[in-house]
Amino acid sequence: MAFEGLADRLQGTIQKIRGKGKISEADVKEMMREVRLALLEADVNFKVVKQFVKKVSERAVGQEVMKSLTPGQQVIKVVQEELTELMGGEQSQIAVAKRPPTVIMMVGLQGAGKTTTTGKLANLLRKKHNRKPLLVAADIYRPAAIKQLETVGKQLSLPVFSLGDQVSPVEIAKQAIEKAKEEHHDYVLIDTAGRLHIDEDLMGELKEIKELSNPDEIFLVVDAMTGQDAVNVAQSFDDALGISGVVLTKLDGDTRGGAALSIRSVTQKPIKFVGMGEKMDALEPFHPERMASRILGMGDVLSLIEKAQANVDEEKAKELEQKMRTMSFTFDDFLDQLGQVRQMGPLDELLKMMPGANKMKGLDKLQVDEKQISHVEAIIQSMTKNEKIHPETINASRRKRIAKGSGTSIQEVNRLLKQFEDMKKMMKQMSGMQGKGKKKGMKF
Ligand code: GDP
Repeated sequence: MAFEGLADRLQGTIQKIRGKGKISEADVKEMMREVRLALLEADVNFKVVKQFVKKVSERAVGQEVMKSLTPGQQVIKVVQEELTELMGGEQSQIAVAKRPPTVIMMVGLQGAGKTTTTGKLANLLRKKHNRKPLLVAADIYRPAAIKQLETVGKQLSLPVFSLGDQVSPVEIAKQAIEKAKEEHHDYVLIDTAGRLHIDEDLMGELKEIKELSNPDEIFLVVDAMTGQDAVNVAQSFDDALGISGVVLTKLDGDTRGGAALSIRSVTQKPIKFVGMGEKMDALEPFHPERMASRILGMGDVLSLIEKAQANVDEEKAKELEQKMRTMSFTFDDFLDQLGQVRQMGPLDELLKMMPGANKMKGLDKLQVDEKQISHVEAIIQSMTKNEKIHPETINASRRKRIAKGSGTSIQEVNRLLKQFEDMKKMMKQMSGMQGKGKKKGMKF
């Protein structure tokens, strides 16, 4: 998991002062020494670390007293706020052109994830904001680049504008914007050429495209795994071209987090999105505050709730609640629930967002067995309508039939029936509690 080492160390440090009723200057000094080491180990730029520690120390020592928090908690709050500030404070938005189309230039070194991110961003604009993006293949030097973008477009059913590799990128951009106007595309995403290293030719070409297309955003795509190199690349692109934001890819990998924590401070340019995987839906807006909470082990509850909200059908949720109350929950409802949870993404990823998750031993090694879930689905699908509603009628010969029909074993069928029964018992207890609570005037 990204930030793992940093999260462990910072959480260890704040644990020591969490409950303290009084904090001396020496306590703060000791804590800051550890924070400093933790950040340096996470490959955060040393100047950034120095500034950060200075700021937190000043605030922690001379801070205003708040009655609702213990002094220990107040220091933690300061660290959380400053960590948020370090990563850019507020979440930043994508610009919208006064007159469409909004033009976004995607730039970056080869292998950073530029083409993939171009596809992901178009997908996000369409899915979340109902936009109509046009992808533009302007990397004419790498033979496979145009094809790669076309494949991405096909996968997403989004149009890709290309003129092959014999027309200049500037001309491609020009014609693409014309076409976008004609066909009422509201976003144009230009996938520009990448190189292995920054060179003058590349910058010259990017500048030309910039002058001609007058982009509303220039997003630099950098690989989080490259740590301080990513920060240096960002600085160079910004000096030469002027970027408006950064997309940090491969944050799903084992990065120590240095790039995420240094880029904003060093370049003054915000991280707008983070890449969390190779799939086309693995791009997330970057929320500094949530990331800070995640690093400090406070969990990313807001992202979790957002994921749930995006996937759960409200009507269905209400219906389900009613069923739980009246105890008419069936195997069909169970199957439905399973489907909704699966839509939210891999279960192990969801678990990691929970507060304190990184303190749970072994969670990082936990691989939720998706195959087992498929078995459960197959078993339920092999039941008759009546069996799903009245599982108590499922006798030995029916169990055998269901196991055969679902390609599983009788033991698995037995286990699921038992689990379902236990779940219903638990629901009964919960709805009983709810009844009692209501009488006492408790709110749920
Ligand atoms: P480009 O040369 O900058 O256009 O890079 P590509 O888009 O071809 O990506 C290079 C590799 O990085 C591909 O294998 C991508 O699947 C992979 N990649 C891109 N973004 C991410 C990400 O957020 N997470 C992971 N794990 N892989 C990514």
